[in-house]
Amino acid sequence: MSSDPVVRAEIVVDLAAVRANVRALAARTGTPLMVVVKADAYGHGLLPVARAAREAGAQWLGAAALEEALALREAGDTGRILTWLFVPGEERLTDAVAAGIDVTAHSIEHLDAVAEAVRRSDTPARLQLKIDTGLSRNGCPPDDWAGLVERARAGEQAGTWRVTGVWSHFACSDEPDHPANAAQLQAFEDALTVAAEHGLEPEVRHLANSAAAILSPASRFDLVRVGLAAYGLDPAPGHTPDLGLRPAMTARAALALVKQVQTGAGVSYGHTWVADRPTTLGLVPVGYGDGVPRHAGNRAVLDVGGKHCPLRGRVCMDQVVVELPDGQGAVGDQVVLFGAAPHPTAQDWAEACGTISYEIVTRIGGRFGRRWVGQEDQ
Ligand SMILES: *Cc1c(COP(=O)(O)O)cnc(C)c1O
Repeated sequence: MSSDPVVRAEIVVDLAAVRANVRALAARTGTPLMVVVKADAYGHGLLPVARAAREAGAQWLGAAALEEALALREAGDTGRILTWLFVPGEERLTDAVAAGIDVTAHSIEHLDAVAEAVRRSDTPARLQLKIDTGLSRNGCPPDDWAGLVERARAGEQAGTWRVTGVWSHFACSDEPDHPANAAQLQAFEDALTVAAEHGLEPEVRHLANSAAAILSPASRFDLVRVGLAAYGLDPAPGHTPDLGLRPAMTARAALALVKQVQTGAGVSYGHTWVADRPTTLGLVPVGYGDGVPRHAGNRAVLDVGGKHCPLRGRVCMDQVVVELPDGQGAVGDQVVLFGAAPHPTAQDWAEACGTISYEIVTRIGGRFGRRWVGQEDQ
């Protein structure tokens, strides 16, 4: 065994890959970028990723919750930050307004909450308005839009806020031929017209996430909001052209035990896999308690020493079992669960588990250590 310290399980995030991906997306879209860093930057680490995104030229950072946006400010980020998911009445809205974070209103209740935060912080807000163009999730329904815009304009004239943006979000951008895309684009144009008729002059109008930013030039407007693609994963499998994006996250572990089993040995809980020959098994010390999807049982493939090895039996809370090539594998050998090809990728895991790569990288964590490499000053 080498004298390197033994690491049971760790996530390694390559910030050079994040920077290269952000630059490639800027080149592809020719549009200012918002890099979306919600959910701890899709599991990659909020602050290191935010710094890398800024270094690569991201004009905006996007976060869902107020705490995420405030964590960026508290860490010293002075650039533009948009947040879009607060519950009217949340206390930290006042801090967000005071910190010059752009906050999003979806309803009159949101406007009232922002007005209250402006009173408390004695700072005019930077306010964006979101129109629901067809996702039927967040955003103002088209029937209520003119009313919302009117109130927003009145608040602007009263000095309560400046309306800095109007935006929306796609439902089906990973399916470029889906008819909802054109319908949402048209609904967004209509909403912009209403906003302009009421005198709003937003700094940024934006609609596209990663898939739309890459695939739909008409959806780019003044800003594109890229999440998944900045992490080097494919936002529209089967449709995305090769932009040279590189997965930034590698999830790895070390074999904790290697053993031989005989024909007929049942592996892991429920014996859902039974050896049909004498074989070699390796124990990987991570499980669903660390975000390894239980659906990966008997489906995912891991890389052990450069060989793709199938996961055998069920995923347990702390452990999984792989079948090793005959006679190969030793305690301490490196296992890559997923990373950049030729390793299995998060996309491979997503397909094995019946989910999307977003969920694979965002949920992995638990007792994995986490380490960042490729800092700009290295
Ligand atoms: C998550 C999110 C994005 C980024 O989506 P990707 O598909 O990861 O690029 C953009 N906009 C909003 C509103 C989001 O919630």
